[in-house]
Amino acid sequence: MKLSIRKGDLIEVISGDDKGRQGKVIEVDAKKGRIKVEGINMVKRHERASGASKPGGIIDKPAFLNRSNAMLVCPKCSKPTRVRWEQRVDKRVRVCKSCGGEVVS
Ligand SMILES: [Zn+2]
Repeated sequence: MKLSIRKGDLIEVISGDDKGRQGKVIEVDAKKGRIKVEGINMVKRHERASGASKPGGIIDKPAFLNRSNAMLVCPKCSKPTRVRWEQRVDKRVRVCKSCGGEVVS
C-alpha cells in the first residue's frame, strides 16, 4: 500500500476529536494505513519506572490514527489537499491538486 503521506509531512485532521488541527507526521505505518502525528490523538499511557532516568507515571503520547482521517497540507499553498503522483525522469513525485506544486519532503 502506497501512502501519499510521509514522515515529516504536515497534515490536517479532517474528522474526529482533533478535526481541524494540524501537526507533523512522526511515524507512518504503511501496511495498516495509519499515521502518528505530533500532538494529535493524544492518549494517556502509564509508564512503569525503569531506573532513575525514567521515573514513570502517566504521560501523553500520540496514538496512530487512520490515514483517511488526515489530509496532507501543501507546503506551497498551505491548504489541506489531495495529491497525485507524477513520474519524473528518476523518481515519482507528489503534486498538489490545488496549486500544481511539487510536494517534497
Ligand atoms: Zn498546493
